[in-house]
Amino acid sequence: MNRFLVFVCALLLAGCVKPSSLKQEKWFQSDGTVKVLTTTAMIADIVAEIGGDQVDAHALIKGELDPHTYELVKGDDERFVRADLIFYNGLGLEHGLSLRESLDKHSRATAVTQKLLETKPETILIVEGQYDPHVWMDIAMWVDTIDPVVDALCAFDPEHAALYRSRGEALRIKMCEADREIYEMLQAVPPEKRYLVTSHDAFNYFTRHYLAAPGESNWQVRCKAPEGLAPEAQMSISDVIEVVSHAQNWGVEVLFPESNVSQDALKKIVDAGKKRGMTLRLSSHMLYGDAMGESESYLDMVEHNARVIAREFMAKNG
Ligand code: FE
Repeated sequence: MNRFLVFVCALLLAGCVKPSSLKQEKWFQSDGTVKVLTTTAMIADIVAEIGGDQVDAHALIKGELDPHTYELVKGDDERFVRADLIFYNGLGLEHGLSLRESLDKHSRATAVTQKLLETKPETILIVEGQYDPHVWMDIAMWVDTIDPVVDALCAFDPEHAALYRSRGEALRIKMCEADREIYEMLQAVPPEKRYLVTSHDAFNYFTRHYLAAPGESNWQVRCKAPEGLAPEAQMSISDVIEVVSHAQNWGVEVLFPESNVSQDALKKIVDAGKKRGMTLRLSSHMLYGDAMGESESYLDMVEHNARVIAREFMAKNG
């Protein structure tokens, strides 16, 4: 045995060289599929629907992790190196520095909202001088992320372009049907009950599309949150008082916690409201704001939110 092999064996015996468990993952295997890395699970779901058996999509930010502040963890760098294509939300959602830098320097990274921003800029909301990145909350807008995904997959893997295009069209139809059902379910709730208070400012697009009356210009009063676009900001007592006053003005009785945000702020609002003699309570079911949580798919996530909101609104005042 030569000296090199002896050296390697010694390292293995000492436990210094371990096979990378990461690289044992199916996603790292060369199996002929296009390896796609996405930031959020909502994007991964769209990619998986369009990509079918030809694509292996992996979401970097899973479960209840916060996409606004996500920083790369051990192994993420290897995923960036291995990925054939990368899709991220854009509009400033992913502002963790290490993630931002990796997205910026990757040559095949696509922001799925970029086309929307270029072709329909009037639909993008600006809150306190920043783009509101929570576009996935409005299915009719999220439909516009299909084309950038289809185009990037077709360019990378032209052999299966026809499949990607036909799956993209099928997904568009499915999403438009779900959008219509959710719209009708929520518009069936009397307008005086359609005032939404959530943990953070993730539901502006949802409110504008599903809760506002048709053509309503002042729809912003229908949604309120104690925490801003990104839920990491410090909340002040004046933020709490502002939401309590809002709830009082608009007859809000139920507050909606989000699955990946602390409930502390909403509990303070309930307590402050009780001191004013208001009947405020938390919804027994949480909403999915920035994370899909236990949802099986992106559409499941939005449908869950819509059902919970409609049920709680209708339960109001008995
Ligand atoms: Fe958010």
